[in-house]
Amino acid sequence: MSDLSVYVHIPFCARKCRYCGFYSVPPDAELLPSFLKAVSAELALYPFKPPVETLYIGGGSPSLIAADLLIPFLRQLIRQIGRVNEWTVEINPAQADPAMLAQFKELGVSRLSIGAQSFNQDDLAFLGRLHCVNDICRSVVLARDAGFDNIGLDLIYAIPGSALKTWKQTLQQAVDLGAEHLSVYSLTFEKNTPLWRDLQSGKVAPVDEDADRAMYDAAADLLTAAGFDQYEISNFARPGFQCRHNLRYWDNRPWIGLGPSAASWFSGRRTANLANLKKYIAAIEKKAFAFEQIQTPSPLQIACETAVLNLRKTAGINRQTFREQTGFDPFELFAQPIEQYTALGLLAADSVSIRLTCQALPIADSILCDFAEI
Ligand code: SF4
Repeated sequence: MSDLSVYVHIPFCARKCRYCGFYSVPPDAELLPSFLKAVSAELALYPFKPPVETLYIGGGSPSLIAADLLIPFLRQLIRQIGRVNEWTVEINPAQADPAMLAQFKELGVSRLSIGAQSFNQDDLAFLGRLHCVNDICRSVVLARDAGFDNIGLDLIYAIPGSALKTWKQTLQQAVDLGAEHLSVYSLTFEKNTPLWRDLQSGKVAPVDEDADRAMYDAAADLLTAAGFDQYEISNFARPGFQCRHNLRYWDNRPWIGLGPSAASWFSGRRTANLANLKKYIAAIEKKAFAFEQIQTPSPLQIACETAVLNLRKTAGINRQTFREQTGFDPFELFAQPIEQYTALGLLAADSVSIRLTCQALPIADSILCDFAEI
């Protein structure tokens, strides 16, 4: 099995959510078949040995594509990459369809990631989501009926107008629905989104730092008490249900990203595809990569990137694995920040690993920047 993962960015959304900075366009019936062909052709451009470890179909909204196009496309993809250890598909709660879910299961999809975001109708309206709370519950029930035993829900907190009480209700409903995995992210104001423009014009104000922190702490407390393991700053899983695909990102292992705007980390290069559907298809049809950016990080840069990514996990940096992967000893390379943050009780280090302490997790970004450049 190759030390590799594959991510596919399906760049179509029925309507743009107000906070979303990902590249997506309205569904385009004319371009859709050529896009799906281009993804298979792009994968064929990469020299790798199948099978690979994990496959993730995200976007955008993969569940927006009609089954008669999506299923043959996925079948072709699996022919190219072989059977994987974990195969996730993202589902928009407004688009859960029993027949499609049954076909996913039959194909070998092992995990569903459902973009729930909130169990509060006002929050969903504020975010500009297409679905309602009932759609989330319905999509989980349909997924269970189709035989899925590994379901993740994405949730967003610190939504302007929301309160700690409603956020706790959202967390509780996610737990009560029986999800195996929960990702909880603070709302960010991505540049050039409608929400960002509202922020600039003073129409909305972000939730203040203390309230944001209280919501993060509430998630950690409530989910831990409910039996979830916090294995990354923003990710919680029931034992045995960590997302292997995302763990590979935090382990800084290689992946191929397919589709417009998708990033890759392959053969020592970080690349990003053109964030333009037509230009992406045109490039691939000429049997060329559709890169917009190419970077070849130095060994030292790779070591720093690996440290920053590893520290996002509660398991932190494993000294031996880090040495083998980067050629550097993390205790020597990061001696200064390790000493500084250990003294403050924000890092814990022993002969095996270096990891953020519980107090450090909510303020991780301010610590990680000291590992990003040495
Ligand atoms: S459905 Fe997801 S990808 Fe599409 S606009 Fe909304 S947040 Fe962005």
